[in-house]
Amino acid sequence: MALGEFELIARYFAALGAVRSDVPLGVGDDAALLAPPAGQQLVAAIDTLVDGVHFPHGSPAASIGHRALAVNLSDLAAMGAEPAWALLALTLPEVNERWLSDFARGFGALAECHGVALVGGDTTSGPLSVTVQLLGFAPPGAVLRRNGASAGDLLYVSGSPGDAAEGLALELQGLSEPAALRQRFLYPQPRVALGCALRGVASACIDVSDGLLADAGKLATASGCGVEIDAALLPTSAALQARLGLRAAQQRALLGGDDYELCFAVPVARVPALEAQLASPAVATDLPALKCIGRLTAHHAIRALRDGTVMDLSTAGFDHFVAR
Ligand code: ADP
Ligand code: MG
Repeated sequence: MALGEFELIARYFAALGAVRSDVPLGVGDDAALLAPPAGQQLVAAIDTLVDGVHFPHGSPAASIGHRALAVNLSDLAAMGAEPAWALLALTLPEVNERWLSDFARGFGALAECHGVALVGGDTTSGPLSVTVQLLGFAPPGAVLRRNGASAGDLLYVSGSPGDAAEGLALELQGLSEPAALRQRFLYPQPRVALGCALRGVASACIDVSDGLLADAGKLATASGCGVEIDAALLPTSAALQARLGLRAAQQRALLGGDDYELCFAVPVARVPALEAQLASPAVATDLPALKCIGRLTAHHAIRALRDGTVMDLSTAGFDHFVAR
C-alpha cells in the first residue's frame, strides 16, 4: 500500500540533518520556530531543481537530494554566511520508497556535514521538482556581496572549474567514466568554510553556477568594473585535461556551469591577509585549492585572454558544450 503523506514525512523528513539547539520546534506543526542568535543578521536563499531541466531525468535520487541542498549552501557560502536551517518543498510523481530513502540519505548526509537542520517543508504530488530554502546568519556588515570589487583587485577561483560541466556531459551520454568528473556534477562540495574565511578579505564574491566567465562577469558588472581572466592560469583538473586536451579544458572551465566553486576579488593589499587566513589551522583543513586567474579592470569588458589575445568564445569551443 502506498505510504500516506504523513507517514512519508514522518519516515523520511521528520529528523533529517543536524540536531540544533536553536530549533525550539521543527517538522510536525503548522510552522517551525527558530531562534536566531542575538546580534546576527538572517541570510536567506532558495533554489528549485526541476527534473530534466536542472538535472538529467533519471539522476540518482541521492544526487538530487545532495544537489538541492548544495546549490543553496553554495549561495550562502558566496555571502560568507553560516548555514543553519532548511525547508524542503518536494513535488513527487509517485511514492517510491527506495527513491525517497536515497533522496533523504543524499540530503541528510550533506545537511549533517554542514550542521543544517531540516525544520519543515511541503510535500505534493506532480512532476518531480525539489525546492530548498536555506536560512543562515552572519554578523551585520560582514557578508560578501557581488558589488564590492574595484579595478585592480585580483580575481580568484576555488577548486577545478569545468569538471562538473564535463560530468554532466558524461551523464547525458550515459557514460560512467571518468567517475571523478561525474562525481563533481552529481555531488558538488559547496565551499562554506571558504566563504566564512573570506569575510574581511574578499571585496566581492559569487558562486559559480552558470559558468566561471559569466559569473565573474556578473561580479564585475555589479562592481562597476570589467574583468580579464588569463586562460593559462585556469586550474583545470588533470582528469579534465586528459579527457578534452588543454585548450578545450580551459574553454570548459570558462563556460561550463554547475561548479559551485567560489569566485572572488581580493584587493592587492589584502593578499597577505588571504594567505594568513588560508594558513590558519582553524580554517585550513576544510579549504579547497585557490588560484588567482585574473583581475578586475577599469574598462567594462568581460573577457578571457589566451597568450595576450582576447579569446573569441562566441562560436569556438562549443563542440563539446552541452546546451540545456
Ligand atoms: P500544513 O498542511 O499545515 O502545511 P503539512 O501537512 O504540509 O502541513 O506538513 C506537516 C508538517 O510536515 C509541517 O511541519 C511541514 O513543515 C512538514 N513537512 C511537510 N513536507 C515536508 C518535507 N518534504 N520535508 C520536511 N518537512 C516537511
Ligand atoms: Mg502543507
